[in-house]
Amino acid sequence: MIVFHSPAQAGHNPDRYAIGRDVMPARETSDRVDVLLGALTSAGHQIVTPKDHGLTAMRTVHSADYLEFLRTAHARWHEVYPTGPRSEWVVPYAYPNRHMQARPGSVLGQAGHYLSSSTSPIGAGTWAAIAGAADAAVDATDTVLAGGAQAYALCRPPGHHAYADLGAGFCYVNNAAIAAHRLGAALGKVAVLDIDVHHGNGTQGIFWTRGDVDFVSVHADPDWGYPFFAGRADETGEGTGAGRTLNLPLPPRSGDLPWLAAVDTGIRHITRGGAKGLVVSLGFDAFHKDPSALLSVSTLGFEAAGERIGALGLPTVLVQEGGYAVAELGTNLAAFLKGFLGARPAR
Ligand SMILES: [Zn+2]
Repeated sequence: MIVFHSPAQAGHNPDRYAIGRDVMPARETSDRVDVLLGALTSAGHQIVTPKDHGLTAMRTVHSADYLEFLRTAHARWHEVYPTGPRSEWVVPYAYPNRHMQARPGSVLGQAGHYLSSSTSPIGAGTWAAIAGAADAAVDATDTVLAGGAQAYALCRPPGHHAYADLGAGFCYVNNAAIAAHRLGAALGKVAVLDIDVHHGNGTQGIFWTRGDVDFVSVHADPDWGYPFFAGRADETGEGTGAGRTLNLPLPPRSGDLPWLAAVDTGIRHITRGGAKGLVVSLGFDAFHKDPSALLSVSTLGFEAAGERIGALGLPTVLVQEGGYAVAELGTNLAAFLKGFLGARPAR
């Protein structure tokens, strides 16, 4: 299987982030990619640096003003804070809410307008990393469109919490949405299956009113975890997208059996919808040792999910999302791919 990954992705490396009053060591770090690449290389997969696609593919699912903010925010911020503890990272401290929605003109205010949490800081290397991850998603999609049964985009930073004009939760540009839009433009009907432990709220938002992309998310009950304000079972899409979104929230600490039953339910929704291609938002943070501590899926559970998804037989783009139990990330990816590739129909 061809794996796309850009070395530029390592240039985004925040050292810490804040949760409430606590300053925590960064969780979405570049050593995640090192571990995943190690597992892929040992399994004999081919690692390829993606081509530079500029802004073209990103513009298919993101607004021009949001992309311009992401591209220029760090330089503009640095003019305001040339030195000192705030100079290195763009981090908002105030956000719009139910009562205030105006778009500020300064980068200080725009940080809160375009980033909805402190967990998506923008540093000097962030834009290049974002672009590299998006390029990986584009080339993985094009590999599948050229006749490959599957390809894997080793994206980092991840993307599924990013809306058309809003970053959050370690995410900036929605790599899975870029892949799904591109795959759908060629194949017609496609689906996104998101098995990251957190609800894929950005992807849901991007495809909310679209009838050509089915969105399924299997995740921990957002009453108890990020993103809190989206991901309930009664969110099903609107307009031509009505009924095309399926959210399958699970009680905290659910293990393999309920998780795999939800994956099966999601697969039935995708089959009934008639998808001709599939994008998997592949997170490993449902793992029982993940610091997210939301679900309790085992390594064998990931292998079993891989088998079920592979057996669908659809042209598939795998897009890396979360997963923060770094020591076991490679093992969990290898298990998923063993199940997935082992279940692929002969072509
Ligand atoms: Zn996650």
